[in-house]
Amino acid sequence: MSIISKDISKAIAILNSEELVAIPTETVYGLAGNVFSEKAIKRIFETKKRPFFNPLIVHIPSIEALPNIVSYVPDKAKLLADAFWPGPLTLVLPKQSTIPDVITAGKDTVAVRIPNHPVTLELLNQLDFPLAAPSANPFGSISPTTAQHVESYFKDDIKMVLDGGSCLRGIESTIIGFEGDQPIIFRLGSTSIESIESIVGPIQIKNKKDIAPNAPGMLDRHYAPSTQTILVENISKAIEKHSNKRIGVLAFQYPEKHDAITFQIVLSETKDLQEAASKLYDALHQLDKQDLDVIITERLPDFGLGKSINDRLQRATVQL
Ligand code: AMP
Ligand code: MG
Repeated sequence: MSIISKDISKAIAILNSEELVAIPTETVYGLAGNVFSEKAIKRIFETKKRPFFNPLIVHIPSIEALPNIVSYVPDKAKLLADAFWPGPLTLVLPKQSTIPDVITAGKDTVAVRIPNHPVTLELLNQLDFPLAAPSANPFGSISPTTAQHVESYFKDDIKMVLDGGSCLRGIESTIIGFEGDQPIIFRLGSTSIESIESIVGPIQIKNKKDIAPNAPGMLDRHYAPSTQTILVENISKAIEKHSNKRIGVLAFQYPEKHDAITFQIVLSETKDLQEAASKLYDALHQLDKQDLDVIITERLPDFGLGKSINDRLQRATVQL
């Protein structure tokens, strides 16, 4: 029997009994549990096979709940929360002492956001506790953007996927931390750097070496298909090199024409970066199912969401 359901009261009952429910958000599906239940949080790490040194994002229903989670909000964090919440922006701020160490991997900061999905906002509003929710996929694999993706990963491990349709934004939240009171980008994501800079001025991306291993989204290999994936500037040249193989192509705007291509997906015929982001992970899931030898994909324009998509494609290509 399918574990996919739209029944919010059932989700509440499961979460109240310290078990896990996969929840829809505008970015990707999350694997959610009660922030204050040690049992539920341990299950999140076990189910995902996620190393304990990786902290989780706390999801709250409204900005009124923020002081329960964090002890200090710099002015620029307040501006960002006002501008982007509910939405795909996560803030890393000093934690309240009530937030368990297992959520923050022992750090004195906690990651928090208000997701912008009507079903999950209703769920959060009805619960007496916030939800810790990393992406609902085994550690390192492609993130889930449909209830079916989650079911195929975890049907034997969790009781329910709360169905909220396909995720409209399609890649993870942008994560912003603070050095002193200055914001700094910890992870690129669904909120573009340009839109963040329009609120707080020029912002830097934290050097990867400074945050690993605490930000798994920043690991070299992450969001990765099991099929070998390569990222190139020019797809047709790459096809020539691999023409004796079963080739899959993930193109941005124009389909590639070549007899050697077994399977192909175009992300956005109108060159729309938001459309491309929303289709990215489903495209990788589909390509990964085709029994291909290689997936060839191309770098997108390096601005706006293109930067975030390129970041994910880069991490999808790293070989173990
Ligand atoms: P996921 O929920 O799988 O998208 O991953 C959550 C991301 O938030 C990870 O990259 C975490 O390392 C990051 N994160 C959560 N808490 C913190 C924190 N206190 N400091 C830095 N990064 C954090
Ligand atoms: Mg993840």
